[in-house]
Amino acid sequence: MLFDLHSHTTASDGALAPQSLIDRAIDQGVTHLAITDHDTVDAFAQVTISAELELIPGVEFSTTWGKVGIHILGLNIDLEASAIREGVAFQSDARRRRAEMIADKLRKYGIDDALAGAQAQAGPGHIGRPHFARYLVDIGFVKNEQEAFKKYLGTGKSCDIRQHWAEPQRIVEWIRGAGGSALLAHPAKYGLTRSRLLALASDFCSWGGAGLEVVSGVQIPSVTRDLANLCSRLDLAASWGSDFHRPGQPWAELGRYSTPPTTVRPVWDSW
Ligand code: AMP
Ligand code: MN
Ligand code: MN
Ligand code: MN
Repeated sequence: MLFDLHSHTTASDGALAPQSLIDRAIDQGVTHLAITDHDTVDAFAQVTISAELELIPGVEFSTTWGKVGIHILGLNIDLEASAIREGVAFQSDARRRRAEMIADKLRKYGIDDALAGAQAQAGPGHIGRPHFARYLVDIGFVKNEQEAFKKYLGTGKSCDIRQHWAEPQRIVEWIRGAGGSALLAHPAKYGLTRSRLLALASDFCSWGGAGLEVVSGVQIPSVTRDLANLCSRLDLAASWGSDFHRPGQPWAELGRYSTPPTTVRPVWDSW
């Protein structure tokens, strides 16, 4: 069995349409795949059931802990549950409003039509900062997407919006209300010190979180070890996945992630 419980499609900022993602996952030997688009479950309406791979309904919600932007994975959710419908509706709305505000900020740099430009990049999917980044590259405003984030769109930069996502407690309630498990996504990527990460993980427990994503793509062994220890200390379960967005990124390829720890309790044991 090969689990990959974190991946993106064209419904959010991924490059592959849902069915292409599934085909690629099968090619890579994945047996259990969670699609976890940012704040949407639209991908699941676009796929057919496959005998070769078990598709796990998921979502990656955006929120904040104090001033820190964090992501919460909802895994094994009931897509029909009213709690999850309410959740994605609220968050999609917040995302749309944020996109309008980002486009407004870009006006002061003489870029007048960034909202339409980003929407064209997103196609029928939901707009995220990567779509603005690609648009800025396309019009020659920046050299590459990294530069767009570094100068304009990244945390604390001039076109970053302090977003009013739903509170993390509410997000965990939506996920649990839909029968799912809430996991703190890629905890090592928030730039927190060890003690702050312990505080975040403890808060996450108190909100009803089920576990931590202990491996996210390719990562150094000490990070895996620290996160596994945090799971043991707080009696949290664990998940792992690639956070796949597009082909050509070997550090985040479907089914290819650093070796998960053996000391943790996989979250799917409770499903
Ligand atoms: P959003 O969901 O709109 O807040 O956009 C966040 C997404 O942007 C992340 O999930 C990544 O896929 C992408 N991202 C974040 N930081 C960077 C960066 N520095 N360079 C390129 N992509 C990034
Ligand atoms: Mn993303
Ligand atoms: Mn994320
Ligand atoms: Mn992700």
